[in-house]
Amino acid sequence: MKILVINAGSSSLKYQLIDMADESVAAKGLCERIGIAGSVLTHKVPGKEDYVVEAPMPTHKEAIQLVLDALMDAEHGVVKSVDEISAVGHRVLHGGPEITESCVIDEHAKDIIRKYFPLGPLHNPANLMGIEACENAMPGKTNVAVFDTTFGMGMEPYAYLYGIDPKYFDKYGIRRYGFHGTSHMFVSGETIKFGELPEGKQKVIVCHLGNGSSISASIGGKCQDTSMGLTPLEGLIMGTRSGDIDASVVQFLVKHENMTVDEVLNVLNKKSGVAAISGVSSDFRDLHAAAEEGNKAAALALDSFCYRVAKYIGAYAAAMDGVDAITFTGGIGENDIGVRKQVLSHFDYLGVKLDPEKVNVRGQRVEITTPDSKVRVFIIPTNEELAIARETVRVGLS
Ligand code: ADP
Repeated sequence: MKILVINAGSSSLKYQLIDMADESVAAKGLCERIGIAGSVLTHKVPGKEDYVVEAPMPTHKEAIQLVLDALMDAEHGVVKSVDEISAVGHRVLHGGPEITESCVIDEHAKDIIRKYFPLGPLHNPANLMGIEACENAMPGKTNVAVFDTTFGMGMEPYAYLYGIDPKYFDKYGIRRYGFHGTSHMFVSGETIKFGELPEGKQKVIVCHLGNGSSISASIGGKCQDTSMGLTPLEGLIMGTRSGDIDASVVQFLVKHENMTVDEVLNVLNKKSGVAAISGVSSDFRDLHAAAEEGNKAAALALDSFCYRVAKYIGAYAAAMDGVDAITFTGGIGENDIGVRKQVLSHFDYLGVKLDPEKVNVRGQRVEITTPDSKVRVFIIPTNEELAIARETVRVGLS
């Protein structure tokens, strides 16, 4: 059984065809510059050279058709006809307060995705375009929506409501939703499986550290709390996002920098975080290189990032009355040995004991604590596409 996973952005579309027999990637690729001159598709099949197609893609409709053509291409293809694709799983950013589960896409699901355009103004319209393009190109095929916000729907009201009048939740759905939900669901589940955590010992904190970073607390795979909020701006300090900030800063900058609210939000989303603190880069490899050369601002950016991650881990250990496992994932979580060590240096008091060899592993599933560590720490590479494919089978085909 093969599942096509689609992640549609406003001008790009990523895809993977996953063979569920062994959960391997049969083919994957990326359409870039959709709706812009110079559109290009890059199609990758393991063990073969990349297949690059330069062709006009005025909309996602043409992009999907090119993807299907590439998947069925005589030389570069991996299937003979679309009949070999059992179903399509779509990554969708925001399901609002009404969607609590992945779902088969019907008119009602599309109405909900549309209804919450205001909560995901960049992503939801693009996600819907990807869905409609697939419906058009493959009539009758089962399409499943897997929402980034689903995992966060496990939170209780005391965790998801802001300390504001609940009438704003009732009227607009303003609450904490959390993002990277598919990754947190996958990695917390894999932590339980890989670590063979017994029932009653499944309090897991997942640190998804990448360009965007977020952290979650879950018990038995059910989300207790997660650091992003109404939008992905809240929580950790990120590549270019500020993370948690006193809302009065917005008013202050509006008044004193003569900016509009939208301009300030653009600064907080795109011109803040470690990139702004360091003045060097949002890429942690650049930050380490600069810090090693004596750049104090780069060192401060790394310290600020690690401090905030450690603070959230401490808060989540308290929120769950304990923690059994802490797992690192995402580009930084999987690869940045220095960040991992610095974050974990805050948890001697929890009895975290690092294995001096394994702590230096990169990008692999591994337990990095010693057998007598009171809290176990893992690295588990995330795989959102596989999580979406599994959800597509679970919800759409069984
Ligand atoms: P995204 O949020 O876009 O999916 P990723 O999870 O791929 O991002 O993370 C990308 C980030 O991972 C890069 O910006 C970089 O900071 C970090 N990264 C990748 N490899 C390394 C490495 N070897 N050492 C330190 N940081 C790394």
